[in-house]
Amino acid sequence: MDFKQHIRVIEDFPQPGISFKDITTLLKNGEAYREAILAMKELIKEKEIDLIAGPEARGFVVGAPLAYALGVGFIPIRKSGKLPGETLEVGYDLEYGTDKLAMHTDAIQPGQKVLIADDLLATGGTISTSVNLVRQLGGEVVGAAFLIELVDLQGRNKLDKVDVFTLLQY
Ligand code: 5GP
Repeated sequence: MDFKQHIRVIEDFPQPGISFKDITTLLKNGEAYREAILAMKELIKEKEIDLIAGPEARGFVVGAPLAYALGVGFIPIRKSGKLPGETLEVGYDLEYGTDKLAMHTDAIQPGQKVLIADDLLATGGTISTSVNLVRQLGGEVVGAAFLIELVDLQGRNKLDKVDVFTLLQY
C-alpha cells in the first residue's frame, strides 16, 4: 500500500517553516491504519519483545495496536503529573524550554525486552528520553519503531545503540 498518500502534509504548522506530517488522515482510514500497523509488525519481526512502550499521545495510537497485534503488553510514557502511581521522571529540552516524561517505577521487570513506538522521529528528543526512562527502570531497549522518520533531522543519531525501524521516510 502507498501509505504516503494517506499522510496529509500541512505547511507552516505549528509554526512557520515546519512541514507537519498529519497522520490523522491515515488513522481515519481503517484499512490504511490496520495495514500500517501490520507493516510495522513485519519490520520488527526479528526482535524478541516483551513489552511496547509509547510516549503520549501519538505513541499510544501506534504503540497500543502494535502491542495488541504482537500479543504483548503496552506501557504508557506520559507527561509529568499524569500517572497515579510512583513514577520516575526524566527531563528533556524542547525548542523553547524543557518538559518531563514519566513512567511508573514498576512498569518493567528487570531485563524485560522493550520496544519503544511512536508516530514520528524528528530530532529524537522524545525517543532518547523514552530510552533513558526504560533503561533506568531496568528494561532492555531492543529497538524503536516509527511510522515516519524525518531523515534530515538525523534523530536516529541521537539514539545510542538502539535499532531504529521506520515505515516511511521524508
Ligand atoms: P522529536 O522529539 O523527535 O523532535 O519529535 C517527535 C515528537 O514530536 C513525536 O512524539 C511526534 O508526535 C511529534 N512531531 C514532531 N513533528 C511532527 C510531525 O510533523 N507530525 C507528527 N504527527 N508529529 C510530529
